[in-house]
Amino acid sequence: MKLFIPRETDPDETRAAVLPQHVRQLKDWGWEIQIESGLGERVPVPDSAYEEAGAALISHRREGYASADVIFRVRVSDKEEVALMKPGALHISFFDPFRQPDLVDSFAQARVTAISMELIPRITVAQKMDALSSQASLAGYVAVILAAERINRVFPMMMTPAGTLAAVRVLVIGAGVAGLQAIATARRLGARVEAYDVRPEVEEQVKSLGARFLKIDLGQVGSTPDGYAKQLTEEQLQRQREAMKRFCSHADVLITTAQVFGRRAPLIVTEEMLLAMRPGSIVVDLAVESGGNVEGIRPGSEVEKNGVLLLGLRNLPGRVPYHASQVYGSNLSAMLGHLYDREKGHLRIDLQDQITGRCVVTHGGQVVNPLLKEG
Ligand code: NAD
Repeated sequence: MKLFIPRETDPDETRAAVLPQHVRQLKDWGWEIQIESGLGERVPVPDSAYEEAGAALISHRREGYASADVIFRVRVSDKEEVALMKPGALHISFFDPFRQPDLVDSFAQARVTAISMELIPRITVAQKMDALSSQASLAGYVAVILAAERINRVFPMMMTPAGTLAAVRVLVIGAGVAGLQAIATARRLGARVEAYDVRPEVEEQVKSLGARFLKIDLGQVGSTPDGYAKQLTEEQLQRQREAMKRFCSHADVLITTAQVFGRRAPLIVTEEMLLAMRPGSIVVDLAVESGGNVEGIRPGSEVEKNGVLLLGLRNLPGRVPYHASQVYGSNLSAMLGHLYDREKGHLRIDLQDQITGRCVVTHGGQVVNPLLKEG
């Protein structure tokens, strides 16, 4: 079986889909691995390290696409690239299929099986493949490091002969995977941390990291069977904003991570709340690429309002590309391991399987994913 890993073409992308350690593992399964020259350039990992691990280097991606049984990528290939793939090939990457119906059709027409890493179910047996979690965790870490680097204060309390420096106050809104890692990182740096999430079940996790959990009575809020938050009503969101106003005004660093699966991220922090923050404060919105939690923050933007620095940076895991590629490559390898029958030496795409059936988007010339078929 042949696996091809092209280099990423998006100028914002620094990650590689695999590191040499993954090449070694897949070689052990008897796979032939081809990588496009420059795959790890921005990680950085030189071509020679992939070659030493057993990958063959190719300079023309066209050649790799045409012969591969499986293609690994961080970001999904485009239509022109899909047209180069052979029918029956398997493509595994982040995809965002709901926002790219034309690309979904291209995969179906080319009879390429496409797997969307975002659609891997958040269940215990699929944890090894859960790229949303592996990347979100790094994003939470990076958000705090960025804030610590940009703020005009030190994070920990310091008692000095010249007086006591108060610990920075960090407020984290959304205590899922990214939020919990942000809390842990801020705590390690010595900050005073408060956190809020609509899912009451995260209170214990927040407290176990040494942070204070804020409570807001919003009435009935629920979670989906997958553990995701349900969308709030406009009235509940309004109540949340009212209550958050005071907490935001005390924060030196505000990190927002609130998302609702398959929907625009909720707008939680309004301009009025930002105006109540002290000059010099930092706001990092991790939900910026799915609509944003903070009014006025745009993807890729860095703006100052009333002395408050608003960061809406894209691809935060890409700021730690070595570790991001390490865990993402392990997620991809685990996914392939789930589909590959090592004894018979072929791939099994079983749409009845609880993991495969949820993340395969197209197969056998059809759009097969239940979420996409529902529209
Ligand atoms: P996410 O990125 O969809 O959302 C981030 C957080 O924002 C969530 O905790 C959510 O509750 C919160 N949120 C949504 N609306 C909000 C609002 N208005 N105000 C404040 N917070 C709001 O979620 P995620 O981090 O990818 O994962 C969420 C949960 O999924 C996890 O915490 C976990 O329970 C579950 N999960 C389970 C597994 C597993 O293997 N069982 C793996 C990963 C995640």
